[in-house]
Amino acid sequence: MTELKPCPMCGCDANVTGNGRDYWVECESCLTSSNYHENRDTTIAAWNRRTTPDRKATVSPEQWQALVEASQKVADSAQRRADRARATAIEEIAEMVDHMGEGRRLEEYVEAIRGMKS
Ligand SMILES: [Zn+2]
Repeated sequence: MTELKPCPMCGCDANVTGNGRDYWVECESCLTSSNYHENRDTTIAAWNRRTTPDRKATVSPEQWQALVEASQKVADSAQRRADRARATAIEEIAEMVDHMGEGRRLEEYVEAIRGMKS
């Protein structure tokens, strides 16, 4: 069997995984993964083409961890913004529904709700 080269991102060991239909390689450390392939051999060949024979990691595990954490902070920040926007939209909808008995036509509410998307 062809030896699987280390992860090109962090230099840690990687493993071939399959689900009965597709195969892919995943790094044990940083979870970098390959594309899906039809069989084990092409999966390993594709993964091994991604790195030179004795290549050392260009990013240390510590640097990689810092990158992952920084990315997570960016993602968390985006999620918080999305959560706030959602909460605001829900509050605006609730406010409109609360005033539905004040003589406005239903079409006005629908139009206002659609306007939130822009
Ligand atoms: Zn890795």
